[in-house]
Amino acid sequence: MTQVDRREFLTASSLAALGLSLEGQPGGPPPEPVIDIHQHVGYAGRANEGLVAHQRAMGVTTTVLLPAGRSVSTASTHVGKANGLQAQCLGNDACFQLAAAHPKAYVSGANEVPDLDDAVPEIERYLKRGAVLIGEQKFGVECDSPAMQKIYQLAQAFRVPVLMHWQFDMYNYGFERFGKMLAKYPGVNFIGHAQTWWANIDGKHTVQAGLYPKGAVTRGGLTDRYLSDHPNMYGDLSAGSGLNALTRDEDFTRDFLTRHQGKLLYGSDCTDVEGTGAKCQGAQTIAAIRRLAASKSIERKLLHDNAKQLFRL
Ligand SMILES: [Zn+2]
Ligand SMILES: [Zn+2]
Repeated sequence: MTQVDRREFLTASSLAALGLSLEGQPGGPPPEPVIDIHQHVGYAGRANEGLVAHQRAMGVTTTVLLPAGRSVSTASTHVGKANGLQAQCLGNDACFQLAAAHPKAYVSGANEVPDLDDAVPEIERYLKRGAVLIGEQKFGVECDSPAMQKIYQLAQAFRVPVLMHWQFDMYNYGFERFGKMLAKYPGVNFIGHAQTWWANIDGKHTVQAGLYPKGAVTRGGLTDRYLSDHPNMYGDLSAGSGLNALTRDEDFTRDFLTRHQGKLLYGSDCTDVEGTGAKCQGAQTIAAIRRLAASKSIERKLLHDNAKQLFRL
């Protein structure tokens, strides 16, 4: 062992003793890439510098930005309440500008309020500019309405996924009927997100259990069946709802992550600026995936490989 080898060995072993590794350290191997499929520009008023620092702190190497639709007062925006995705999020132009400023690290989706007359041409304009998906669709519309079916047809034409926020009585109505859309549009990959999507991993879920149900999960939930029965249904692990679903019954989760290992995608949907620690739900979701994935290969699929394939990154 030369002096240099010995120094490197000692550094590695002392880091290991602290539960750390040389990965990402100067001279160490590059960090494993992580794709975050769910972030927003202007989220809860956060500046772009805060978003970029947050993503770096979380160890994210590629971020998918999800634009809001335009601000309008319609039934589908709950008379403006859902503008900015109900969280001050900015639209297509702001997302494209940030992605253009960081061409390797950021890509953008395309979005619009789906029942506006010009929703399809507006979204199409950004798909032609390279948007990697349609979303985040978070509006008060029936999931099988003519307006939404036009969105699905557009997604089919451009071969991009559609990301939908499912929230009972608020956004995307008719979750129990969505199987018909999955069967009708087999060429469209759908990504399920948010409270009603995650609450329904439980076969015994009821509306009365609320949006963030706790405790043991019974197999056979509607979400689990959509994932099992439809090759075009994917799941977005982001937000408090995703983290709650991962941590409420860890024995169920290990099995769920194994069974749907090719269908689940890491996202943060995280508003803070820290990017680490107790305040950062996105960092906690990464930690939960690392803890609960039954193998390194499953962990890598959830944190990176599935998204790379689905969005052709
Ligand atoms: Zn979101
Ligand atoms: Zn965070």
